[in-house]
Amino acid sequence: MAEEKEKSVGKKLEEELTWKFPHIGQEAPQQVEEAAAFCEGYKEFLDKGKTERECVKLAVELLVKAGYQELDVTRQYQPGDKVYQVNRGKALLMTTFGEKPLSEGVRINGAHIDSPRLDLKPNPLYEKSDIAYFKTHYYGGIRKYQWGTVPLAMHGVVVKKNGELVNICIGEEAGDPVFCVSDLLPHLAAKQNERKLSEGLRGEELNIIVGSVPYVDDQVKEPVKLLALKLLHDKYGITEADFFRAEIEMVPAQKAVDVGLDRSLIGAYGQDDRVCAYTALMAEIETVRPLHTTVTVLTDKEEIGSEGNTGMNSHYFSHYIEYLAQTQGADPKAVYGNSMCLSADVNAAYDPTFSEVFEANNSSYVNKGCVLTKYTGARGKSGANDASAETMAKVIGIMESEGVYWQAGELGAVDQGGGGTIAKYVSHLNIDTVDLGVPILSMHAPFELASKLDVYHTYKAFKAFYKN
Ligand code: MN
Ligand code: MN
Repeated sequence: MAEEKEKSVGKKLEEELTWKFPHIGQEAPQQVEEAAAFCEGYKEFLDKGKTERECVKLAVELLVKAGYQELDVTRQYQPGDKVYQVNRGKALLMTTFGEKPLSEGVRINGAHIDSPRLDLKPNPLYEKSDIAYFKTHYYGGIRKYQWGTVPLAMHGVVVKKNGELVNICIGEEAGDPVFCVSDLLPHLAAKQNERKLSEGLRGEELNIIVGSVPYVDDQVKEPVKLLALKLLHDKYGITEADFFRAEIEMVPAQKAVDVGLDRSLIGAYGQDDRVCAYTALMAEIETVRPLHTTVTVLTDKEEIGSEGNTGMNSHYFSHYIEYLAQTQGADPKAVYGNSMCLSADVNAAYDPTFSEVFEANNSSYVNKGCVLTKYTGARGKSGANDASAETMAKVIGIMESEGVYWQAGELGAVDQGGGGTIAKYVSHLNIDTVDLGVPILSMHAPFELASKLDVYHTYKAFKAFYKN
């Protein structure tokens, strides 16, 4: 046996005074398997919930199975009671009542279930040179060039003239056709190659191929378009005018898969921010009798600035808190002031291939746990919720008391760009708020990557938050 070298005074001092975030796989290798097992359910959630509406539906099914009931403001609730409320089919609020009165504050965990995608325009269908297409308007921050030649599925809803709501889903079942935006072949791309990357594919070039054979009839002016319409009509009973009463989202048809020989990563569409939505949902459901009442929110419209009445910049969230307060005759102002919120959202994982946009000491890394993001914003923290030292201390304390692996990270180096989350809309209500989530590689791409260990520890952080 080799003789262990005695630690020098400096070495001991170094261990005592410096801080490094460990690789979980190195420090706790037994957790690799636990994390992989946990992520099987997550992958299923990703495949079944590719739009905000689908996520809400899926989550409500799980809630009802777990004994949640729709919130009834005329009722009084006991510790352990579980309620939920759906906002317009696109956002969801859930609560487990705690031992403490609401006036002592609630524990809020908010994730978003909308993801970047290609939305159909209100009048989308057209025919050009014997090919039928959908016109799209992209939703959220996408790098447009990434969306060409990717198999796409069609998801959404149509409200027919008679008021009937029709759910549309093509491209997910085995044997389903998919859809696609075409791109140039390299042989003819000399001029396109001269474009800036941001214009590699332009917004009005994100046209989706939906058909190429005609409805055979000499009298018909646009027979390829007509056949496409007929096929939609056969399947869903809709006509062209129904597109004006629709919300249809074209999303990657790819299913969630393991990435890497070691299967350590998950590759899938929409992990921003369904990774936090799923982990928050699991933590909420598994919380039995918390000290503080929980409020888990899965919200819509984060990717376009939390706008509209299903986004966090609307009053639907504060109204829910006020409804809860009403059940105990509590003053909502006290509830807000004593509450704490995790804004559960992803951050950019350090990408060694593009290291120049990161600052290595303040980036999050895959496999080092969930990432605590003190502030977001751009150009000198503009538009940021900048969490206080006290809030950071509380959240770090909660995580460390439950053995959660966590790290701290900024969204890229200073002045390299920036971004925001729902954090500022929650903190506007006088609630202590900080961002916490999963580091993601290739964020907002049709195929994003997350580490299973990080997903698992984000779930553990959310559970600890509701427990402590
Ligand atoms: Mn996000
Ligand atoms: Mn995003």
